[in-house]
Amino acid sequence: MLGRGVLSTLYTLTQQRTNTLTMYLDIDQNKPSNRRRGYVVQAEAMLKNLKSRQKRSERLDTACKQALMIVRTMKPSGKSALVVVHPETELRELVQVELVFPPAVHWRRGAFLRPVVEAMDEHERYGVVLTDNQRARLFTSVMGELTEHEDLFSETSQRTRSLGADQMRAQKRHDQRHREEMASHAKRVMDALHDLSLRQPFDRLIVGGTPKAAAQLVRLLPTRMRGKLVDTVSVRVGGSQKEILNKILAVQERMEREREKEIVAGVLAELHDRGKAVAGFAPVLDAVNQGRVWTLIYGKGYSAKGGECGSCDAYSPNPTGPCVYCGEDVHPLPHCVDRISQTVLEMGGRVEVVDGDAKKKLTKPGGIAALLRY
Ligand SMILES: [Zn+2]
Repeated sequence: MLGRGVLSTLYTLTQQRTNTLTMYLDIDQNKPSNRRRGYVVQAEAMLKNLKSRQKRSERLDTACKQALMIVRTMKPSGKSALVVVHPETELRELVQVELVFPPAVHWRRGAFLRPVVEAMDEHERYGVVLTDNQRARLFTSVMGELTEHEDLFSETSQRTRSLGADQMRAQKRHDQRHREEMASHAKRVMDALHDLSLRQPFDRLIVGGTPKAAAQLVRLLPTRMRGKLVDTVSVRVGGSQKEILNKILAVQERMEREREKEIVAGVLAELHDRGKAVAGFAPVLDAVNQGRVWTLIYGKGYSAKGGECGSCDAYSPNPTGPCVYCGEDVHPLPHCVDRISQTVLEMGGRVEVVDGDAKKKLTKPGGIAALLRY
């Protein structure tokens, strides 16, 4: 399972002066080409291609060998595999993910994590609780994966209707008991949700199931938890994992697009003389160099050619030429946006990759922008 913890560890471990090998591999076993270890052939071809593009190096040879060993001994279970190898530090990491990443291999300083950062940005951790009159199931969902944590049943009676006038009192008692049982079931679910939030903290909450039971649970949510509630969905409590995951992914997708629109609107509103935002490649780089970026925002797939000063390490909007800060030579910087993102993350900032409407709105000011700390 890939989480922010894994990402941050990988990032830290690979901040070495020497190169790290990062490989994204398509291992989806639903594809015939990947069966019978077709993904191993794919890995071999990618590594061969990488070596042909690089200067001969023993370190690279070693890293490729180690990466292949990982791939050969892996039991494929997800859609993609992320392999990170740094020969000297014995870092050999394999993460299988239920998300599709474009197959790629990188040999550079620091693991190439931008695809993961982008994916993680789209998939915050969700808590999900589905409840009806007597059953409740609790899940967490992150990066397109759904994990079930609890399936609880309460002893509740069925709500029945009787007609005769002489049965009115019995019916009333029955209704009263049913309400009490429902309330105590909702409380049990609430307790389980509290436990879950301690064991597996989540950023957002989705409540679903039958409308009445879901509404009752929502009323019980404490303020902090209610702040995380993003939607209620109707889905059968007994539904299959796939059924439930599809509902959740739809909510997440919509939420993410809404959030992106708000972020971009926030940036655009600050793009004035005394505003706390800048837009366009060069102004953003300048802000990154000064350590002023609070949130870096760019459209999915954004790319630009930039450079890095060989003397003062500042980023430059031109791949070559004199550095604007110190006048020394600038060298082209491959994966420029990725490196900038990593720098922003390293300085405690955030990186938001936007798509859809938000991306369109960002096109005019240059496709990239930054909210500033000051
Ligand atoms: Zn410089």
